[in-house]
Amino acid sequence: MSGAFIIGCHLSFSKGFYSMGADAVSIRASAIQFFTRNPRGGKAKEIDAGDVAAYNKLANDNGIKTLLAHASYTLNLCSADKRVRDFAEETMADDLKRMEFTPHQLYNFHPGSHVGQGVAAGIDLITAALNKILSPEQTTMVLLETMAGKGSEIGARFEELRAIIDGTRHSEKLGVCLDTCHVYDAGYDIVGDLDGVLEEFDGIIGIERLKAIHINDSKNPFGSHKDRHEKIGQGSLGISALARVINHPALRSLPFLLETPNELEGYAEEIALLKKLRE
Ligand code: FE
Ligand code: FE
Ligand code: ZN
Repeated sequence: MSGAFIIGCHLSFSKGFYSMGADAVSIRASAIQFFTRNPRGGKAKEIDAGDVAAYNKLANDNGIKTLLAHASYTLNLCSADKRVRDFAEETMADDLKRMEFTPHQLYNFHPGSHVGQGVAAGIDLITAALNKILSPEQTTMVLLETMAGKGSEIGARFEELRAIIDGTRHSEKLGVCLDTCHVYDAGYDIVGDLDGVLEEFDGIIGIERLKAIHINDSKNPFGSHKDRHEKIGQGSLGISALARVINHPALRSLPFLLETPNELEGYAEEIALLKKLRE
């Protein structure tokens, strides 16, 4: 089968867009994920229009197709503490404003942890926040990440993501990012029955909502609810299951982003490996 293989990994944004693009080019990546700011959610780096313009040319010349910004993973839209929720809301709203410097890209976030308030209450808080944050003018597609179900994380079940989408007014701005480590840890058997899991996803969420894949192996066994990523082929998913993911007809045109424990050199090797496995 043909069609461009959009593959990349998580890179550092600390020196700006152009530097990040140069890193991507050096490892033959055609997609980039980055944290919009320090994972602890501090002040974001000022965006420089010249840096963005230089990046755009580099990306264009080198076939980089996708930018996937990842929200700080410490943000929690459904915390029990209103100050924590407000901070997450303000930070995400600011991130989305900044995303318009690179329009029509993707912004991924972890739905949140309900910290004992219960799943339904957590989902209500998440949708209330999204109803403040999302605007009809934004060009960015916001992605809910499928989670492993560690602690009180919301989003380990497809039904929970569906409920968030249903409660959100501008749900045309919402999609899903499927993390292979997380869904396997959550108890979706993408090793033994990828077709069955994708049918379930389609029935509950709709496959057209799926906009990106985090392609990771897992350090832990099926259903462990742990969320610890492993290098490609060295974990419980294994190389043949991950090869089926990148080649599946329903997934193959999506951007694939590695979040494996690697530096640039290790990412270069995994990108080369996955390209070899692409049919
Ligand atoms: Fe994530
Ligand atoms: Fe992920
Ligand atoms: Zn993870």
